[in-house]
Amino acid sequence: MDTRLESVREIVLERNPGENEFHQAVAEVFSSLVPVLDKHPEFADASILERICEPERQIIFRVPWVDDSGQVQINRGFRVEFNSALGPYKGGLRFHPSVYLGIIKFLGFEQIFKNALTGMPIGGGKGGADFDPRGRSDGEIMRFCQSFMTELYRHIGEYTDVPAGDIGVGGREIGYLFGQYKRITNRYESGVLTGKGVTWGGSLVRPEATGYGTVLFTQEMLRTRNQTFDGQRVAVSGAGNVAIHAIAKSQALGASVVTCSDSSGYVVDEDGIDVELLQQIKEVERGRISDYAERRGGSVKFVEGGSVWDVDVTVALPCATQNELDEADAAKLVKSGLVAVAEGANMPCTSKAADIFHDAGVLFGPGKAANAGGVATSALEMQQNASRDAWTFEYTEERLTDIMVGIHDRCAATADEYGKPGNYVVGANISGFVKVADAMLAQGVI
Ligand code: GLU
Repeated sequence: MDTRLESVREIVLERNPGENEFHQAVAEVFSSLVPVLDKHPEFADASILERICEPERQIIFRVPWVDDSGQVQINRGFRVEFNSALGPYKGGLRFHPSVYLGIIKFLGFEQIFKNALTGMPIGGGKGGADFDPRGRSDGEIMRFCQSFMTELYRHIGEYTDVPAGDIGVGGREIGYLFGQYKRITNRYESGVLTGKGVTWGGSLVRPEATGYGTVLFTQEMLRTRNQTFDGQRVAVSGAGNVAIHAIAKSQALGASVVTCSDSSGYVVDEDGIDVELLQQIKEVERGRISDYAERRGGSVKFVEGGSVWDVDVTVALPCATQNELDEADAAKLVKSGLVAVAEGANMPCTSKAADIFHDAGVLFGPGKAANAGGVATSALEMQQNASRDAWTFEYTEERLTDIMVGIHDRCAATADEYGKPGNYVVGANISGFVKVADAMLAQGVI
């Protein structure tokens, strides 16, 4: 690695010990930056790299709450306000037992560049808690969200920091969080959170946006090779909000999605996943993927444990979680005829897996480009809130489509400009980084 990047990487490792996912996210961005530093020596002169890797603010707090049996429970809450060069900190909240500072920092770091790529005026941040929502009652979820917001409220605001959902945080949780914010502040400040219900300040298309956007981005990648979604055989991992809407959009464009998964295993449905049934089981009943196989019947197979990437497909959309697709999975997928991969989740492919896809000439859409439709539509929600307006589904989807095509074209053009045609990792990293770095330079040493 280049000495300028290497010395900053060492500082990052030393300052953030044990935060492996954060180290991985930094290394992934740095891997694209040598030509940028050559072209823009002013970035290194102003220590942009060191500054961009150090969050502007990191908040860690206790979240006490009482469970249904009267027992006091303690979780740890986080909000990392990473970079506000382009706008208020923006990014989701993740409630999952695996959450610790390193996960929130990796997500917050990615968010800076993702948000820059959308072309919207939003900075980067992320938060969450090591809380496991699984098996918890509605009452427990509400009390947890209220306690979480009782600390978080003092740090956020429509011009300061605007959280939203991520894994374990959907419409229900945003409702409880918003209610508590409103109660504490005595303000109906719609723009303080996104992902709200459509009848009280939310945006149409926001629930669908991440999954739809991932498919729209993939469609643009396929277009560069004169291909379409029609007739593709698709594997989707995950069964949450991103996966469900990625499946729906892929099938609307004529593909057959044959898999989805959760932490217990995966299903193979050769007739194409029945999205309505999946949505009923996962979002309404909050059940398991094995229920899907049971209720759908026929030849649907449930595989306990195992990897969804064992199924042969032409398009892979990892929509579950970080590092869920490794080099062995990538090698296997390439061998069986894979054409395109797009990351619906954040950093689901290991860096070695991404290298294998690139070496094999497989189209590869990194998460910070491919899944940016979610946060971009959050920014559209902020626009609607600011103007006290509510747009139609059609208009909002049109805006999302334009944004995804714009991200694709920006990544492709940047990759061309830097001599790596077709490399969306290089295109996304450089295009996002330069935009943020230019703004940081203009705003002085802060
Ligand atoms: N959590 C989503 C992401 O990873 C969306 C964040 C938002 O809407 O602010 O981009």
